[in-house]
Amino acid sequence: MSKRLDWIQEEINLLKESGLYNRIRTISSAQGPWLVVDGRRVLNFCSNNYLGLANHPEMVQRAKTYLEQYGVGPAAVRSIAGTLDLHLELEKRVAAFKGVEAAITFQSGYCANLATIPALVGKEDVIFSDELNHASIIDGSRLSGATIVRFAHADALDLARVIEENKPKYRRMLCITDGVFSMDGDLAPLDKIYEVTSANDVMLMVDDAHGEGVVGRGGRGIVDHYHLHGKVDIEIGTFSKAFGVVGGVAAGNALLVEWLRQRARAFLFSSAVTAADVAATIAAVDLLERSTELVDRLWENARYFKAEMKGLGFDTGLSQTPITPIMLGEAPLAQQFSRELFEEGVFAMAIGFPTVPRGKARIRVMVSAAHTRDDLDQGLEKFAKVGKKLGVV
Ligand SMILES: *Cc1c(COP(=O)(O)O)cnc(C)c1O
Repeated sequence: MSKRLDWIQEEINLLKESGLYNRIRTISSAQGPWLVVDGRRVLNFCSNNYLGLANHPEMVQRAKTYLEQYGVGPAAVRSIAGTLDLHLELEKRVAAFKGVEAAITFQSGYCANLATIPALVGKEDVIFSDELNHASIIDGSRLSGATIVRFAHADALDLARVIEENKPKYRRMLCITDGVFSMDGDLAPLDKIYEVTSANDVMLMVDDAHGEGVVGRGGRGIVDHYHLHGKVDIEIGTFSKAFGVVGGVAAGNALLVEWLRQRARAFLFSSAVTAADVAATIAAVDLLERSTELVDRLWENARYFKAEMKGLGFDTGLSQTPITPIMLGEAPLAQQFSRELFEEGVFAMAIGFPTVPRGKARIRVMVSAAHTRDDLDQGLEKFAKVGKKLGVV
């Protein structure tokens, strides 16, 4: 027997011993406030389906209609075999929704970051990156070959300091930050960041994956929240969270988007999402433009849940958005908490290193517009029960 793969078993054993091995549960139902997970009906506090759109009848119907009309596969990359009118329509609609000049869509938010960053900067350039930025920003930045300089989390003063220090050494400069930080639910101080980047002629890019459909007027996102239209050069987004489908987008300055159509490698060398996905995403934009009802309900549910959790004595961190971390400290406690909740019929995953720093393990609760007050009360009751059992509250 060859030993060349033995190291993998050793690494896996280490993960298991430290409570960091991820056992992925199996879902066998449509997305919604309740799911069938590993054969049990459980309350869903895990998904990023903020507005309950992933299984919305209007979206499903739209996908069906276009599935019949366009078939199942895109057949080639858009830049070689021509692009579907539907993809262009979605790009126009998303740009209008966000109040920016133009947009280009990708296969996912992850792809959007991997495509966009290397198109903007290279070896002679520098990226200023918030230290808690999402993994896809980190990966896109590494792929670009640019020097990566981290600044203290959500700290525009520290950003100014690192720009000052590094400015003379590089050709181009790009600042990247998450808009809403996905593990803590706090916001980037984008207004202050813009002051610093614009004063220094630094390109500004924000990843709005957890902001669109959630913050800003009617869910128009982080740029809208801070009234920075036309000032942020490019926003990255995903259609897999509040929009309830799948796909990614880069939206903002028209010249920059035109450049991405020429140079973004995930656009040039990988096929696009299907017509059914695109049609459903357009339906999501329709729903968001028609009414703020779902976004309002999301916030109402989130405020209620957070206030009640605090009342029970839980530490819900610094979140300014519906993302609700329940801070537990060590990873094994968070994993045990999650398992006990599951036994009680509540699906809420533990999150540990490397997704969050060591010693900051947590359960992340994702409340949605689709939860009823009764759903939330049932969840609260189970959190209280498990919290007392494990000595957390
Ligand atoms: C979820 C997320 C992504 C990835 O989006 P996908 O469409 O799932 O690939 C990118 N950036 C941030 C900040 C995210 O939270």
